[in-house]
Amino acid sequence: MRVPGIPYVQGRNDYTDVDGRKYGIAIHNTANDASDEGEAAYATRRTDGISSHFYCDADSVIQSIDTDDRVGHAGSAIGNENAIAVEITGGNGMSRAWWLANVAWDKLGWVLAYVITHDPDFAGFQVRRASVAEMKTNPRVKAFYGHNDMRLAWGHTTHTDPGPNFPWDRLFAAVNTALNPPLQEVPDMLVLFTDEGKKWVGDGVTRRPLTDAEASDLQHIASKGALKLTVWADMAEVANPGAFGAVPVVPEAVLSEAQVEKIAAQLIAATDNPLDEADKPAIVAALKQALREGVEG
Ligand SMILES: [Zn+2]
Repeated sequence: MRVPGIPYVQGRNDYTDVDGRKYGIAIHNTANDASDEGEAAYATRRTDGISSHFYCDADSVIQSIDTDDRVGHAGSAIGNENAIAVEITGGNGMSRAWWLANVAWDKLGWVLAYVITHDPDFAGFQVRRASVAEMKTNPRVKAFYGHNDMRLAWGHTTHTDPGPNFPWDRLFAAVNTALNPPLQEVPDMLVLFTDEGKKWVGDGVTRRPLTDAEASDLQHIASKGALKLTVWADMAEVANPGAFGAVPVVPEAVLSEAQVEKIAAQLIAATDNPLDEADKPAIVAALKQALREGVEG
């Protein structure tokens, strides 16, 4: 699986996954202070057999390998075969305060919640850290593991990351928040006008640029109070549920034909302008294109 809404930079991968399935999520640190962009770029060319599905730093998360594929992160064949790898930039010696301040927790929580809810392998996944004893008994326990936990359970490594001060509670809080967004008003669609003058339409997962004509139509409709327009300063924040304010991330991009028709009818009614009825086909077409043929920005 590739997680939408975050950069994908294909890393080198020397491994073949036996069954394409994963059960646990392994947390590592990179033992350095490089950016996730730097780590992901290095992963495209490194030849030491080390790889990871995700890299995360203080402000972003990047995917490097499809989660169905096997990466070299655990040391043990069991860990490599069964766990998704998350490399967070930092080192074992970092303090709790450092970790709290230097990880894009909300984005990481959203990405991992996306995997947990969209990959059927993770049905029944528990947002907690597995014990070494249960990892030994059940190498497919559906929970989080530290690299050190994998070392103690399955061997074949000397690594002890992510370190004693890693704030597991903060990680779990971020994932749980993304899994259980507070009840909020759900808009029909999101229209994004950035402060750079670029206009986008999307649903929180996929998005594409709007033409000026489409933007003009939607702005007219919004001026009648039937559509909420929201301004973002940074499109990268769209992958972060926190950036949506009162607008939750909608996990699936697809609206039904009937939903699109209903939204269009509501919008046209709200415009209170007879000329708009003639524009209905164009408005419906724009909505369909925006909502159903959206592409990742
Ligand atoms: Zn590690």
